[in-house]
Amino acid sequence: MQDLFAKCRGSDGYFGRFRAAKDNYFVQPVLEGEAEPHMTYRGKSIVMWAINNYLGLAGNAEVKEVARQTVETWGTSSPMGSRMLTGNTEGHLALENKLARFLQKPAAVLFNYGYLGVIGSIAAFIGKDDQVLMDRLSHASIVDGTILATMGRRFRTFRHNDMKDLEKQLKRAGHKGKGGVLIVTEGVFGMRGDIADLHGICELKEKYGARLFVDDAHGFGVMGENGRGLGEHLGVQDKIDLYFGTFAKAFAAIGAVTAGDVEPVDYIRFNARTNVFAKSLPMVFVQAVSKTLDIITSRPELRQKMWSIARRLQKGLVELDFDIGDTASPVTPVYVPAGSEDTAMAMIKMLREEYGVFVSGVIYPVVPKGVVLFRMIPTAAHSEEDVDVTLEAFKNLRARMGLDLSQKPSQVNR
Ligand code: PMP
Repeated sequence: MQDLFAKCRGSDGYFGRFRAAKDNYFVQPVLEGEAEPHMTYRGKSIVMWAINNYLGLAGNAEVKEVARQTVETWGTSSPMGSRMLTGNTEGHLALENKLARFLQKPAAVLFNYGYLGVIGSIAAFIGKDDQVLMDRLSHASIVDGTILATMGRRFRTFRHNDMKDLEKQLKRAGHKGKGGVLIVTEGVFGMRGDIADLHGICELKEKYGARLFVDDAHGFGVMGENGRGLGEHLGVQDKIDLYFGTFAKAFAAIGAVTAGDVEPVDYIRFNARTNVFAKSLPMVFVQAVSKTLDIITSRPELRQKMWSIARRLQKGLVELDFDIGDTASPVTPVYVPAGSEDTAMAMIKMLREEYGVFVSGVIYPVVPKGVVLFRMIPTAAHSEEDVDVTLEAFKNLRARMGLDLSQKPSQVNR
């Protein structure tokens, strides 16, 4: 018998090259201080572009105060137990109602993590005769939820945002299956920043009688006039059967929500194994998220500021000829020429060491093989000066490294 741990000694597995080299520069860098645009890295002040703090609410003083008071009363962990047994409170129910109202859905259910929310929501519905149809560039939690639910049985993908392919797959699914079909997509795609064609998807799901789950982790609080997400942005919120958002990004907390009609949401409540068999969200997060929602609904200027920073950054990068693909959100991917990991590492190093600009490289398995990008997240907390310093750094980087920016790597592996 082979030693199961033999693989740990080489460079197998995800990020194996970095693990084997004991790197903590490109992966798992150690950062100090609160998540803000200016942080300390290796003793040096940097401008941070790699944290999903869209509205700049991480470290918000009012939220901190609510959290402090809640910890006084509830401690850091209460309630204990799963919602099903001893982990339910008026606070959890009130937050669910508040989120449902915000999302303009009749009901909502909380999760402890976005990852668990996506897995639990998808897997709750998929029985042995049902099928999942997933956008090919969907987040790992969608893939994992689907694999878990279907045991790989009826697991179809459609080409990224390709409505012709989706229709083809829906027809096939209709021929093959006895059960129902769940279409699953990200709303704002977290790595590319482009947005799902929800008009097209909703039309097709109605035509074929399928249901739709939208993981809008990066659109929740960010997109739409009121921050209700991509459904609001595109005017189709009422057509989305199950809308999902995590608190780990614009809400700068932890936990997640799935919202929809009362019956399916209740069904999730009773059948999502990631909730039924897990301790409920600590009250400190319940109250922090509730306060954060008040701030998000009462301060639209935060979203306006985020967009103005995002536009300034994106416009500047395009003017410098960097390829930012077809983002339609604040998510700003900068595609590395020729998808080269070595070029990416040299760029990251120069940006951090010589210009105090912190970006993270994104490689497989987070994006498809052959794609390498920096995923930059402009936030309401950044200043115009932060953007200008960063653009100057990219300009110098381009000249000093002699980068060939004539190719458009974003068009590869679509
Ligand atoms: N879905 C998407 C699209 C995400 O980007 C993420 C976060 N990386 C998740 C789900 C998981 O959310 P969380 O971090 O709250 O577990």
